[in-house]
Amino acid sequence: MKNPFRALVARKNDAGYAVALEELTIADLPEGEVLIEVTHSSLNYKDGLAVTARGRIIRKFPMVLGIDIAGTVVESSSPDFKPGDRVAGTGQGIGEMTWGGYTQMQRVSADALVPLPDSLSTEQAMQIGTAGVTAMLAVMGLEMASVLPGEREVVVTGAAGGVGSIAVMLLAERGYKVAASTGRTELGAWLREIGAASVLPRSELARKASPLESETWAGGIDTVGGETLATLYAQTAYEGAVAVCGMAGGYEINATVWPMILRNVSLIGISSVRTPKPKRLVAWKRLAQDLNRDKLASISRTEALSDIQRLAEEILASQVRGRVVIDVNR
Ligand code: NDP
Repeated sequence: MKNPFRALVARKNDAGYAVALEELTIADLPEGEVLIEVTHSSLNYKDGLAVTARGRIIRKFPMVLGIDIAGTVVESSSPDFKPGDRVAGTGQGIGEMTWGGYTQMQRVSADALVPLPDSLSTEQAMQIGTAGVTAMLAVMGLEMASVLPGEREVVVTGAAGGVGSIAVMLLAERGYKVAASTGRTELGAWLREIGAASVLPRSELARKASPLESETWAGGIDTVGGETLATLYAQTAYEGAVAVCGMAGGYEINATVWPMILRNVSLIGISSVRTPKPKRLVAWKRLAQDLNRDKLASISRTEALSDIQRLAEEILASQVRGRVVIDVNR
């Protein structure tokens, strides 16, 4: 067990808040049933906002940042976990309401954690992270809406990002034909390698749509929102569905009821933050089964916690391809 240890802490000040690496001790940690020696966290869009003090992500101060966490249990007062177990936590207020994963030691509630199967290292679990869980929940949403593999393509928007790239992989692995919509068409070959059947320039969807356009897609997983989502919705074919996860391009939707009442099209809401544990366990089980580990590694890189400020700026500027794992010991 590390004591003292290093953590990225946000503290309130007159200008809002400041974020810095600090030395903490076990006595500084909040209450929580499970004490974890953390090995890895990850970088999500939300982490970018929190680290750079943009957006209102942090709900309590001081806060240890990082919405994802993975490591080994050191102590547990919960019957669900014992010392030596490898665990991961995503969402559930981690890094927003309760202290997060950008640290070498942390206490977390047992409910926020899932056990990792032997086949998944803590680093691989963080290659998945919130982005992967969200992508899996979106795939499960499409399946529940009976959007199944077929001839018509399913679109993934923001395809080169974290949620997007894992969504492309998961859908392709399940046999869907995937159209990857991206602002970085120079990454087209890479998107095809991870499973896209076709690549669509961002501008084809990021435009003002007519209320109803020709039926083009079986459905979609949207991480972008705004005009992109409205166009995708207007182009979704009869009985199709769009799983709506993000707002990287805007949070407003200017759309009509026509796709719903004329084509049975559904918009499915995806929120990974408060997903109940049984559903999270199903998502992790499927992620462990369905994700090709080599492909997962190929879309991921591992970076040092000490570089977090630069990495946070990169993800907000859409310069991150796939996933970034954070090694909290570097
Ligand atoms: P990333 O930054 O990794 O991916 C976002 C991608 O969106 C970018 O890579 C880019 O893809 C695209 N993009 C960025 N800016 C714009 C723009 N202005 N217009 C159109 N496309 C744009 O972030 P994450 O994958 O971590 O998160 C993606 C979104 O999903 C975020 O909005 C995030 O808040 C949300 N999210 C929601 C969750 C939930 O539970 N609902 C959980 C996790 C994330 P490309 O270069 O391919 O165009």
